[in-house]
Amino acid sequence: PSLEQYKKYQLTFGPSPITHFPNLSKALGGKVNIYAKREDVNSGLAFGGNKLRKLEYIVPEILDGGYDTLVSIGGIQSNQTRMVAAVAAKLGLGCHLVQENWVPIPEQESLNYDKVGNIELSRIMGADVRLNAAGFDIGIRDSWKDALKALEAEGKKPYPIPAGCSEHKYGGLGFVGFVDEVLQQEKELGVKFDKIVVCAVTGSTMAGIVVGFAKYGRHHDVIGIDASFTPAKTKQQVLRIARSTGSLVGLDVELTLDDIYLDERFAHPCYGIPNEGTIEAIKLCGSTEGCLTDPVYEGKSMQGLIYKVRNDEFEKGANVLYCHLGGAPVLSAYSSYF
Ligand code: PLP
Repeated sequence: PSLEQYKKYQLTFGPSPITHFPNLSKALGGKVNIYAKREDVNSGLAFGGNKLRKLEYIVPEILDGGYDTLVSIGGIQSNQTRMVAAVAAKLGLGCHLVQENWVPIPEQESLNYDKVGNIELSRIMGADVRLNAAGFDIGIRDSWKDALKALEAEGKKPYPIPAGCSEHKYGGLGFVGFVDEVLQQEKELGVKFDKIVVCAVTGSTMAGIVVGFAKYGRHHDVIGIDASFTPAKTKQQVLRIARSTGSLVGLDVELTLDDIYLDERFAHPCYGIPNEGTIEAIKLCGSTEGCLTDPVYEGKSMQGLIYKVRNDEFEKGANVLYCHLGGAPVLSAYSSYF
């Protein structure tokens, strides 16, 4: 088996660009060369993001099966649900979104949190957005099962897409393909990336990247940065998805927990709330490279990258590839931090 045997429906522009971050590298003392692979600009659909790459391998089953409504779930400011809303709009399908209360929203943001940012965009794209009181969990949820049942009772044929696409059997495939692009781009740029930094929460992004690099014996260069604040769960989920994705693409490496490196130091105080270092990282990346990262995900992985450079956790002169997975549309829901 190989990735090529799976049907793919193009939602992205094609291979996402890799951009050099010389100013950020210099601001951190010139100890490493930072590059970013830009899933934040990978598509013309609703500002793009990592979910589109995952959905490219899920859409064929939706079209072939004659489903009429996409159902997905996330936090109130979920990027996943925005991306599913965009894909549903593009495919002419209905969209039902369960938006749970995953984040202890700070008082100063509470007026706008369920109105601006991602949720605003999903409403614009015509999704049926339902707020739900349930708290943060990366697994399969009752609220979501209930939504499916209700739609079926109405005579609809709903297609379930779990949080982050991660529990979907094909959820890890897209980021195996991401790695094939990186290898091609290494040749074009004449640069070999020594370390790859990626944010992890529901796990299928990192899982796909681990599998993709494992094909070339390079999976130990992948550094996950936890943003879930439930790292043991996220790590188990990355491993489980990496194993199942690996068997889909014929990976002959037996992956274990030791193959999943997840740095737990940056997710505090909890999922969805930035710490001081997160805000500093967002400002530093923005002010040196004009590149926007968010307080929930990419700001935390950027914080991890910056911390690791400052504390000499990378070898001097290393080429570090930051996987920018999107997420900046959430920023307006966090205006008080800036
Ligand atoms: N970065 C952004 C912008 C996201 O929307 C997500 C989604 O959860 C992640 C990172 C984490 O990816 P994953 O859920 O595949 O671990």
